[in-house]
Amino acid sequence: MMLNITPNTVPTPAAPSVAIGDKMMHPVGRLPSAYQRTISTEISVSGIGLHSGKSVTMRLCPAGENAGITFIRTDLAQRGDAAVIAATWNNVQNTTLCSQIQNPSGASVSTIEHLMAALAAMEIDNIAIEIDGPEVPIMDGSAAPFLFLLECASPVEQSAWRKYIQILKPVGVAEKNGIGYKHATLNPSSGFSIDLDIDFPNTIIGKQRYHAIITPTSFKNEISRARTFGFMHEVEQMRANGLGLGGSLENSIVVGDAGVLNPDGLRYNDEFVRHKLLDCVGDLYLAGFPILGHVEAHRTGHGLNNQLLRALFSDSSAWQITQPGATQNSAPEQNNMVESAALSA
Ligand SMILES: [Zn+2]
Repeated sequence: MMLNITPNTVPTPAAPSVAIGDKMMHPVGRLPSAYQRTISTEISVSGIGLHSGKSVTMRLCPAGENAGITFIRTDLAQRGDAAVIAATWNNVQNTTLCSQIQNPSGASVSTIEHLMAALAAMEIDNIAIEIDGPEVPIMDGSAAPFLFLLECASPVEQSAWRKYIQILKPVGVAEKNGIGYKHATLNPSSGFSIDLDIDFPNTIIGKQRYHAIITPTSFKNEISRARTFGFMHEVEQMRANGLGLGGSLENSIVVGDAGVLNPDGLRYNDEFVRHKLLDCVGDLYLAGFPILGHVEAHRTGHGLNNQLLRALFSDSSAWQITQPGATQNSAPEQNNMVESAALSA
């Protein structure tokens, strides 16, 4: 059991506003956490993979400071380090209907985004996720079961300062497909917020938009329960491609021509856009550190979310690593705790 609690003595000045061009971003209502966090006890869960349909068991384990988030394929344990997959943007291999990461040795794990979103929301920096198969269990299709698991595992502060990726200037990506443009932009901000819209013409989903300042509380109350969704007419094609084999009304919203097929209906009227926002939180946590930035996204998905991170890290003048806790606790002459752009692109 890992217990390394440092009393939080960080002063709490008002969050500053950040100027972006000629407009001021609203300050977020909460300062970022000062210290890195892990969980204090191991916890296990079993379930089926949405796409593989296979049963898997996953164990969440505490990890040391600066260890980051790693998946360990226990079914490939004889391969040693080759079974370890770092949850980072440059390991994203496939974004067809989910986010899949793969290490240079070819070990992969897919459908990580809802678990990653829960880790982001719970401000977990360091954790080892042991899994005996290639896909994270889908649970109920949302992030709420993972949030519950992490809460049960008693998150705990460590003694190292938490690092953040601070966005210094807008970075955007866009893509055109059959029904128009998709785009996503990261802008400077003092916190992490997302303004996202979706547009599914000629379906019951239509246009939906949601804005959220992501905090543990807002994520839990507004976002975490939103489930993944798919269209009935796509189910056969997905299955022919070996995807969605574990999908059911127990773990997905299924949209038919006349409405939602789930007998209990929706959890929120705009559950679809809230789920896309959930996915965006999870995909962007693959940045390696939490982001201090504001996301504007139109019809984004796993592929574009990853392209946004790749665009960000290809421009070293667009971001820097900061440690707000260290800065707040330092004398003015020691305030320069900003690291150089050290992440490998
Ligand atoms: Zn999703």
